Amino acid sequence: MAKRTLTGTTLDTIVSLAKRRGFVFQSSEIYGGLSSVWDYGPVGVELKRNVKDAWWKSMVRDRDDVVGIDASILMHPDVWVASGHLDSFTDPLVECQDCNKRYRQDQLEGEACPNCGGAFGEPRQFNLMFKTFMGPVEDDAATVYMRPETAQAMFVNFENVQTTSRKKIPFGIAQIGKSFRNEITPGNFTFRTREFEQMEMEFFCEPGTDDEWHEYWKDFSMEWFKKFGIRGEKLIMRVHEADELPHYSKASADVEYEFPWGWGELETISNRTDFDLKAHTEKSGKDLSYFDDQKKERYVPFVVEPAMGADRSALAFLLDAYDEEGEGKEMRVVLRFHPDIAPYQVAVLPLSRNEKLTPTARRVYDVVRAQFNTQYDDSQSIGRRYRRQDEIGTPLCVTVDFDTIDDEAVTIRNRDTMEQIRVSIDKLEGAIRDQLNQMRVDSHG
Ligand code: ATP
Repeated sequence: MAKRTLTGTTLDTIVSLAKRRGFVFQSSEIYGGLSSVWDYGPVGVELKRNVKDAWWKSMVRDRDDVVGIDASILMHPDVWVASGHLDSFTDPLVECQDCNKRYRQDQLEGEACPNCGGAFGEPRQFNLMFKTFMGPVEDDAATVYMRPETAQAMFVNFENVQTTSRKKIPFGIAQIGKSFRNEITPGNFTFRTREFEQMEMEFFCEPGTDDEWHEYWKDFSMEWFKKFGIRGEKLIMRVHEADELPHYSKASADVEYEFPWGWGELETISNRTDFDLKAHTEKSGKDLSYFDDQKKERYVPFVVEPAMGADRSALAFLLDAYDEEGEGKEMRVVLRFHPDIAPYQVAVLPLSRNEKLTPTARRVYDVVRAQFNTQYDDSQSIGRRYRRQDEIGTPLCVTVDFDTIDDEAVTIRNRDTMEQIRVSIDKLEGAIRDQLNQMRVDSHG
């Protein structure tokens, strides 16, 4: 029973829990912070890594038809000419003529400045790509861009990957990595930032099969979030209207999550057609078509792309896991993460920091951490330590007490049921595995 009793929480609650427990800190905090830039702390880095690992496993390791790459952030500037980003990766920017605050016009409700009620000047198109210079000379010839999406590396490496992996169409290329967008109005904690991580996969298929694959990857994406514990009622699939489709897309749909401020995008699944491969063929002069040796014909593959944000997804997992039980001083805050998403799967807690107990507790810790991501904590009272583990969502606590020294048994406490069972150390690994498996089943959204 991992079902949350709370239907939602506020962003402030999560931001303060994130800081208090070491999930996320403001960047450069001792200097007053850098606005809308965040650092993951020791617990948060495990959460985000688990989100990325869960994606990589589902997308690459568990499949025969997807391979991975890890490409550079900096790419040849012509990539962004061909992809259309240099011309069209823009948002309409308006500036208030009274207070000079800037906004993204398409995100405004009404005509007046939300800050002071003033009037806006004419909108202008603002390119979201960050520019920098390569080499010691800062001139136009040395301008390069920080990639605004990871996808282009899959297109420009299409032939390298296809020939070396010997994959036949249909197959995909996946990548996880940083992207940068000079967003006009970042905000809502890690939801919209200027530096973020994406998890993208370009699935190359035969023209004519693209609509079917688009449906397939839409279903796959929705199921992925539920599999790892996001409640189904907090998710919707929103199909894009024709006028909001990006320049490269024939059809797009977003998986949206109900954030505290409303529905927001977690992932877009787009049918990018043959736009990118054709554009790079034209600009680079390198033929990126594919010879289908079964059909004995050559074509430019169509591409279906599931594109997800790692930070946004991690935030959704955090918000969705949050639960409170009881009231007042008795209240228990618990993050009901799926065991594969939880920063730690197990905590080993000796009853006290006693020199008789420590060697046994360390031995148990070594047994457990060889198999599971485990935290060892022997500070403060056991009650406080359970509370701390609940607040970071650790599914199981293994308590080592004075009886353990004699009977070679420990107690496993379950985060969700609060049940405690006693098991012998030689059966501990199996018992942990069984409970985690049950929690995996129970946490399906
Ligand atoms: P939005 O409409 O929210 O600006 P988008 O449609 O431009 O996002 P895509 O280009 O489809 O986003 O990128 C794929 C995914 O990357 C998004 O679904 C989101 O999870 C993530 N992402 C995009 N921009 C940001 C950002 N500024 N901060 C954090 N994550 C982002």
